[in-house]
Amino acid sequence: MSKYKMRITNWGNYPAVHAEICFPETVNALRTEVLRQERLIARGNGKCYGDAALGTCMLSTLKLNKLLDFDRVNGIVHCESGILLAELLEHIVPAGWFFHVTPGIKNITVGGAIASDVHGKNHPEKGCFSNWLLSFELMRADGEILCCSKTENASLFWQTCGGMGWTGIILSAKFQLMPVSGMYMQQRTVRAENLDAVFEAFQTVENWPYAAAWIDCLAKEQRSGRGVVYFARHLETERNPTVPLAYPFAKVRNIPFFAPSGLLNRFTIRAHNYLLFNKAATGEQQIDVDRYFYPLDRMRNWNRLYGRRGFIQYQFCLPEENSLHGIRELLKIIRHSPDLPFLSVLKRHGDPAPEAVHSFPIRGYSLALDFPRTATVFSLVEKLDALVWGLGGKIYLTKDACSSAKMGRIDPTGFGEAKFHSLLKERLLKN
Ligand SMILES: Cc1cc2nc3c(=O)[nH]c(=O)nc-3n(C[C@H](O)[C@H](O)[C@H](O)COP(=O)(O)OP(=O)(O)OC[C@H]3O[C@@H](n4cnc5c(N)ncnc54)[C@H](O)[C@@H]3O)c2cc1C
Repeated sequence: MSKYKMRITNWGNYPAVHAEICFPETVNALRTEVLRQERLIARGNGKCYGDAALGTCMLSTLKLNKLLDFDRVNGIVHCESGILLAELLEHIVPAGWFFHVTPGIKNITVGGAIASDVHGKNHPEKGCFSNWLLSFELMRADGEILCCSKTENASLFWQTCGGMGWTGIILSAKFQLMPVSGMYMQQRTVRAENLDAVFEAFQTVENWPYAAAWIDCLAKEQRSGRGVVYFARHLETERNPTVPLAYPFAKVRNIPFFAPSGLLNRFTIRAHNYLLFNKAATGEQQIDVDRYFYPLDRMRNWNRLYGRRGFIQYQFCLPEENSLHGIRELLKIIRHSPDLPFLSVLKRHGDPAPEAVHSFPIRGYSLALDFPRTATVFSLVEKLDALVWGLGGKIYLTKDACSSAKMGRIDPTGFGEAKFHSLLKERLLKN
């Protein structure tokens, strides 16, 4: 089994650890490591932003990445937990299947998708990843392997979905796919002049199961919160089932170096926002699934644009009744701060499954904001936390690097096993 001591960060490049990471290739090797270490945390592809997949000792699942079985008739995948969604696409798409729920990135592992209970742009209709999860195998601290599903070890199943790796190591999983007839989406783009218009678009447009908006966080007064809302649905086509579908993998560009810190400043963010708003092609277009679901995957290492100091993503969800005025208030706080977000994504969420106690989305709206890491950004986060907490909201732990413990509405003392311990858990236990 390969093992290294190295500097490791997650996607935000903050914080960094100098620690041991091992790459078991078999379940037996993985068990030996689990039994040997006093503390460790599972790590998928490190695409969470903050400190969730970091620890003094990390166990990578990237070499446990086999597709164990694929039922092409019923669309059920059985795979090891370290396989990437991108790798699965190569197997499932030719047979006419796609994911019911996918985040805006395909380079994540199935284990990571379960441990964060990821959501997509269709949460009101499809819920989180756990909705489509049939079962998984979990290795506990004593090396025992338990099969967990909604009927077998059900409580452990729900503690693990969104449980950030604290209950054990997910070894393999079975989940249900969705049939598709083609690789194109019908997209409708709406430019909205302010935040009220953005919300109105979300609430009035029907029969578009996917929706997400970009918000201009710098626009002031009547234009405050203006944005572009992107709706989409799968384009139904006549399909000859004997002809395999081809996933439209796009050419990937690379950001080869860290940009100088300060590249993303008030001036460049304003120019970027101006272009995004004014150049948005409104109306309806056809767009391939890769471009629609995974636009950021087309630029490898785009996180380097934030410079070596890295960045933090602040993603929060507010209850429906507090979403509009809450986000309006939050934008005011941001406009008066020296720290401005470069990227901002608004999504609508439906009711969570009652058992999904650790899933992030609640019925309402979530906003994800990327801030360069500066000396002042942490005091901005404190102010945002106070507002979000006061309005009954919560933050997404898989993105978090610095919020206070209560914000995830998860009690780190209340569940999990002492052995499975990450920086995130340590930080939440401290504050
Ligand atoms: C560009 C971008 C866009 C994104 N968009 C979305 C989005 O739209 N919706 C969304 O929900 N998320 C989104 N995310 C977040 C991402 O989907 C999650 O953080 C996901 O968990 C990352 O998976 P990973 O394999 O990289 O896991 P890691 O980042 O390595 O780990 C994430 C968590 O999962 C745990 N974990 C990983 N593997 C296992 C395992 N085998 N057993 C037990 N625990 C495990 C880790 O301990 C850690 O707590 C996005 C991230 C990026 C970078």
